Amino acid sequence: MPELRTTIPVLPEGATLVDSHCHLDMEDYRDDLQQVVERAARHGVSGIVTIGIDLASSRQAVAIAGRFKTVRATIGIHPHHADDVDQTTLDELALLVERNRDQIVGFGEIGLDYVKRHVAPERQRSALIMQLGLAKELGLPIIIHDRDAHEDCLKLLQSEGPFDQGGVMHCFSGDLEFARTILDMNLYISIPGIVTFKNAQDLQAVAAQIPLDQLLVETDGPFLAPVPFRGKRNEPLYTIYTAAAIATLRGVALSEIARHTSDNACRLFACTFSSDEAPTS
Ligand SMILES: [Zn+2]
Repeated sequence: MPELRTTIPVLPEGATLVDSHCHLDMEDYRDDLQQVVERAARHGVSGIVTIGIDLASSRQAVAIAGRFKTVRATIGIHPHHADDVDQTTLDELALLVERNRDQIVGFGEIGLDYVKRHVAPERQRSALIMQLGLAKELGLPIIIHDRDAHEDCLKLLQSEGPFDQGGVMHCFSGDLEFARTILDMNLYISIPGIVTFKNAQDLQAVAAQIPLDQLLVETDGPFLAPVPFRGKRNEPLYTIYTAAAIATLRGVALSEIARHTSDNACRLFACTFSSDEAPTS
């Protein structure tokens, strides 16, 4: 297990990280968003992808990406809001992409959540199918949310694919066998801060063994803060703790994890993050 760290692990000179998934539009960041983004950049987290979960949050994500050079946005309707997915909403999302191509780098998060089941599974599945179609039409990579729905997610990804722009299984929660199936579909696997939790053996095995060129790191902030901040607000800076834990698990240098995961994020999201510039506002 990675040791507990009370000071921020320092990225080696020149190394950078990308937080592939967080929710900067959420209430939790309302009072200090600028500090959160700047703090991350100052410590080498030079890219942040802020994720839409419904129409309003997708719009906010785009607006936030417009404010900061290190931030890009994705748009989409989360399975918790699958009831919102109809033709009108899809048209709005498409319009948003059309008008903000520079800011929008992916479609999601979309997927299936059979833990909370805010929306009936069948409705979740039809919302996912519609959005996968639109993502393909728009030429955007997909960001998939899958909680306790591995089998159905897989089935739909297989029936609706292939996805030429690729995609990522965010906040990965399966075992190594499921990871291999996802990797075979040429999707990325994004490892959250949960990997630092003592009881996360399955996720640690995945993080230790999947190929470095299909690995991403994320906070999913404000949720799921890594040790030593477990239970507190998560923020993009803490991507460093997750990357450091993965480096320890794999027995490689942190810079190695940083280099690969940053390259992967730039490849998947087809963008460069302005690492050497301060945020614009
Ligand atoms: Zn999320």
